[in-house]
Amino acid sequence: MSKKMGKGDLWVVVEHRDSELLDISKELCSQGRRMKKSSSALVAILFGNEKNGLVNDLARYGVEKVYLTKGEEWKSFNPEASVTLLSKMIFEESPSAILFGSSSFGNSLASQLAIRNRGALVTDCIDLKEYRESWVAVKPIQRDKINVKMVPASGMLPLFTLKAGAFEIEESTLTKPIEVEEIPSQISWEEMLTKVVGFIKADPQSASIEEADLIIAGGKGVGDREGFKFLEEMADLLGATLAGSRVAVDLGWIPYERQIGLTGKKVTPRLLFAIGISGAFEFTIGIKESKFIVALNKDPNAPIFKIADAGIVGDLREILPRLNEGLRGIMR
Ligand SMILES: Cc1cc2nc3c(=O)[nH]c(=O)nc-3n(C[C@H](O)[C@H](O)[C@H](O)COP(=O)(O)OP(=O)(O)OC[C@H]3O[C@@H](n4cnc5c(N)ncnc54)[C@H](O)[C@@H]3O)c2cc1C
Repeated sequence: MSKKMGKGDLWVVVEHRDSELLDISKELCSQGRRMKKSSSALVAILFGNEKNGLVNDLARYGVEKVYLTKGEEWKSFNPEASVTLLSKMIFEESPSAILFGSSSFGNSLASQLAIRNRGALVTDCIDLKEYRESWVAVKPIQRDKINVKMVPASGMLPLFTLKAGAFEIEESTLTKPIEVEEIPSQISWEEMLTKVVGFIKADPQSASIEEADLIIAGGKGVGDREGFKFLEEMADLLGATLAGSRVAVDLGWIPYERQIGLTGKKVTPRLLFAIGISGAFEFTIGIKESKFIVALNKDPNAPIFKIADAGIVGDLREILPRLNEGLRGIMR
């Protein structure tokens, strides 16, 4: 074992899918490493039973210790049980601060933990720096038009949820051995009021764009609300989530919560289609963490092609009906 760990450590509650650490968790670890004191350790809390590869990944991003849940019951996420377990651990170990992703998982845990443990919670942070003996968090408000600085009240456990894409991911240059421990304080499942019996997959069209894996985004080039129907059909066929540029929102073709960009949301899908979108900086800042971007635009010089991994030059009104027809043939 390395040095004594426990009180005063900085915790990150990580998320994973299909045995892969989500990018937001890499951001949490990288930011946690930047924030933690040299005398303390960076500790990750890992829910679920998937350990393979995840522990090594966490070490790569500077985690020194991992707490793992143990037992079949933890296979699915149970917010009540998770909050109970974390509350016991907080009581025993007194972490200095806890970071979560600003996702439905992170926000639901952080808010309940704050209530149960006298925590000072700041959600949706886009920056987090040391301030005297505490932290100062920056978070956007008023539809992202204003940024406010918030300092957690002293004497309370600081809890922060971090917006995806706002914090730099940095691998650790130090290769320290990572300590792995099963979570000591187990809970009695009989006392839990909620039991998870299964999951219903969210309808991609109504799911949050920040958590979507496949996004179809439309801009002013789509032309009108009728034009957006082609995008809706494409999204329906592919199981994708719809989003748009600010102009598409201002024109009322798509609601504000689906706006991507500086005053909208930052998205991190595996695949994003940018259709009839010019690629203004205020839009592309919101898609730069996408794994693969396909742009469709009639202007070969549109700036979107500079950031896209693949491009189609043409009129969307000709291309989308043909594309959807092809998709209908293979997807239904
Ligand atoms: C402070 C501030 C904050 C902002 N925040 C945001 C933000 O969060 N998100 C955001 O998106 N914008 C934001 N903007 C606005 C931004 O600057 C751009 O105006 C906006 O992104 C442009 O949207 P667009 O690409 O849909 O439209 P346009 O720039 O008008 O682009 C339309 C594109 O469609 C193409 N096109 C037209 N017809 C067709 C066709 N038939 N087939 C194929 N292609 C076609 C055109 O060639 C063009 O490239 C912000 C601006 C400011 C000043």
